[in-house]
Amino acid sequence: ASKAKGRGMFQYFEAGMNEAAQQRLLLENALRLAIEQEEFRLYYQPKADCSLRVIGAEALVRWQRPGFGMIPPDRFIALAEETALIIPLGTWILKTACLQAKLWADKQPGFRTAINLSPRQLLADDFIAVLDRILAETGTKPEWIELEVTENLIMLDVEKATRRLRQVRERGIHVAMDDFGTGYSSLSCLQKLPLQTLKIDRSFIQAYTGDPASKEAAFIKTIVSLGEILKMTVVAEGVETESQLALLRSYGCHLIQGYYLSPPLPADEFQRRWLDQAMDN
Ligand code: C2E
Ligand code: MG
Ligand code: MG
Ligand code: MG
Repeated sequence: ASKAKGRGMFQYFEAGMNEAAQQRLLLENALRLAIEQEEFRLYYQPKADCSLRVIGAEALVRWQRPGFGMIPPDRFIALAEETALIIPLGTWILKTACLQAKLWADKQPGFRTAINLSPRQLLADDFIAVLDRILAETGTKPEWIELEVTENLIMLDVEKATRRLRQVRERGIHVAMDDFGTGYSSLSCLQKLPLQTLKIDRSFIQAYTGDPASKEAAFIKTIVSLGEILKMTVVAEGVETESQLALLRSYGCHLIQGYYLSPPLPADEFQRRWLDQAMDN
């Protein structure tokens, strides 16, 4: 019911609506307004090889909500997805990240910016048209960006997801499977989908506490090998410690991302720290 009535500025609470539902409705309205008023910002977290040379970034959205501070995506992306607000928000994210990707690829050849996509965004009828329009309008070359998708996508509609990802791939855009190992995608899906990158979910990295003979280490090793067999670039997320990095390096994991190297940063700070400095060296 809330969805149908959510179009206008005014929203009436139904009698008997519980507090959680009311909160949700308030948040939905605030989100709708925030999209119109562009209260979102993209932060960027570096991706580096195991020698800590930065080769790209991942764009991560934050909601700068007046009076509430900075709201992390885990608090609003799911609602945006349920209410289809992810469509306008996702378009803004795509465009903003493409503009940034272009600037950074100009500064550092080969630099690639990854952008997270919600399932609903990718499966929308006009997604490819929107993507093509944004690439053209921003002057972004396909090789400057990568799109990150999650295993949920496959659960929703594997046929359609495969077709869409092929269209993305035909344009020369890399596709990454994000949070790998936490969802329900089968190994056969992983083999069939046109993916170039496998991102090991951070829960696997964080479970490793320093014993290379542990089953946690073996798990990570297995996922890295799986990526190699599939000829994918393997990225470890959530690397926080030297010992995690050392393990990943010993397994030949290609790329790392995590607080050990850097948290996500505003674009100007990212550039100062990871692009301008690297060029001075
Ligand atoms: P994700 O795509 O898997 O992004 C990685 C998350 O892990 C980010 O959280 C990042 O800040 C966090 N992280 C990075 N390194 C570390 C670390 O060393 N330790 C720990 N504990 N965490 C680390 P964030 O920015 O809060 O984003 C959470 C999720 O929200 C993302 O997970 C992604 O699924 C979603 N998201 C973020 N931005 C977007 C977006 O622009 N569009 C869509 N559709 N989803 C987004
Ligand atoms: Mg991601
Ligand atoms: Mg992830
Ligand atoms: Mg995640």
